[in-house]
Amino acid sequence: MTISGKQLIGGEWTAGDGGAFHAVNPTNGKRLMPAISIASNRQVEAAVRMAEAASKKFKHTPLNVRADFLRSCADQIMELGDELLERVSEETGYPRARAEGERARTCNQLRMFASYIESGDYLDARIDTALPDRQPLPRPDIRHINQPIGPVVVFGASNFPLAFSVAGGDTAAALAAGCPVIVKGHPAHPGTSELVAQAIAKAVNQADLPRGVFSFLIDQGHAVGAQLVKAPAVKAVGFTGSFAGGSALVALANQRPDPIPVFAEMGSVNPMFLLPQALKNNAASLAAGFVSSFTMGSGQFCVKPGLVFAVEGPHLEEFIAAASKLVADAAPAVMLNDRICDSFGKALDERISAGDLQILAQGKAPDGQKGFYSQVTLFGSTAATILEKPELLEETFGPASIIIRCRDESEMLNAARKLPGQLTATLHGTEQELADFAALADQLVEMAGRLVVNGFPTGVEVCHSMVHGGPFPATSDARFTSVGTNAIMRFVRPVCYQNYPEALLPPALRNHNPLGITRLVNGVRTAEPIA
Ligand code: NAP
Repeated sequence: MTISGKQLIGGEWTAGDGGAFHAVNPTNGKRLMPAISIASNRQVEAAVRMAEAASKKFKHTPLNVRADFLRSCADQIMELGDELLERVSEETGYPRARAEGERARTCNQLRMFASYIESGDYLDARIDTALPDRQPLPRPDIRHINQPIGPVVVFGASNFPLAFSVAGGDTAAALAAGCPVIVKGHPAHPGTSELVAQAIAKAVNQADLPRGVFSFLIDQGHAVGAQLVKAPAVKAVGFTGSFAGGSALVALANQRPDPIPVFAEMGSVNPMFLLPQALKNNAASLAAGFVSSFTMGSGQFCVKPGLVFAVEGPHLEEFIAAASKLVADAAPAVMLNDRICDSFGKALDERISAGDLQILAQGKAPDGQKGFYSQVTLFGSTAATILEKPELLEETFGPASIIIRCRDESEMLNAARKLPGQLTATLHGTEQELADFAALADQLVEMAGRLVVNGFPTGVEVCHSMVHGGPFPATSDARFTSVGTNAIMRFVRPVCYQNYPEALLPPALRNHNPLGITRLVNGVRTAEPIA
């Protein structure tokens, strides 16, 4: 396969009419070939039109056909072989092992959604049969099912070129639900995005699905994304990125005559709490795990632990000394692109010049090499300072974290109560301590989507039980996850049929249960047909 720099509009590859740009290799600042063309207004309109037309047919595709299509997407991505892995590394600076790991995650995610929809569970089929003789009023026949919401726009994320981009979690969930997808690719990895789009286009052809089921557009700016969010035929949006970007898209969607949901995952500081006995028992190993977690992927993870709380004392000092030593040895960290590198540099400068934080340790400084590099930095502060300066509770996207000394346990609990919504919160403690600090755990569950115990928040498992979400500002809607099979719930809406002829109902709701799925029939969960 070769990268053409074109857009995919309902099965056709065409050069964008809106100008062009080049991807840049962040490790050396060199432009990557070829030039990437930008979609014009007219091309965006065409992709939306095709998606709208495809939606009417795609929503009726049998579950097994859709499942095979998702598996075929995974197979086609694997077929891209080394070309994909090399391009990921060139466009992101990620080592090959990371590219391979992310590819495996992406393909497993597609396959997991395939098996999940075959079970029919997400349809939430419910049947209340008619009770014509009920007194004082008869009950009609009412049957409930989740149906696809309609065309979905997905914004590729900069930091996950595969797992949260063209065929990432949002796309897999939307296609699994039966929604056509238009991806707005991230301009930091356009070649990677195009290769994956080529793989999906092949899978669409093989499954003989309507061509508008999948389109891929790209630009370097906000015009294409904004036009897509405003397009009347678009019914939902999946986004992973900055708070500013996510908030802007939510605002745009709310200004529509018919507001639509924007499921924005906007980041988090992912506080960690080290309880006294755990700190006493494991100060050095906790420090090693923490430094590895906050510097992994150059700190460019939405679940990077950005704040660590512990009660002051000799064991906390031991933890700080061990972490500082590791940080001092850290090499300059390659960042995804110039914009992210600049924002991280500015955030460090502002924090240092404000004088509220103490620099505990810094890694090796970039020594003038070309490319986008930053310095790993570990700050120290106190709970009192953090509580007075809420801006210190904001995410810095990159390899930096703050260790916060608390005077005592009640100050630590008080600090936890002041934290805004988070994707994750982490507790390190012995079993006895976890019981003693149940109030702290309870507070963390109030504020975060995932509570991690005696581990680190980086490494988000893709599974049925995962919650990668959380209260605002971590996401725009705390009721949903963007990772794991439950992410499909963002792209369906419930509908019920009242007294509709049995033979015309969707197969999942027919009496003889042709799909063999489990349903809630008159309040009882069963896979039995209705006599
Ligand atoms: P971003 O600036 O939020 O951009 C993400 C995507 O949304 C890009 O495709 C961008 O288009 C588009 N976009 C942003 N604002 C928009 C607007 N007002 N209207 C229409 N489209 C808009 O995120 P990023 O480029 O990935 O990284 C920048 C910062 O985001 C980072 O420094 C970090 O703070 C944060 N971030 C957070 C996470 C997380 O997991 N929470 C992940 C990655 C990044 P263009 O790029 O074409 O402008």
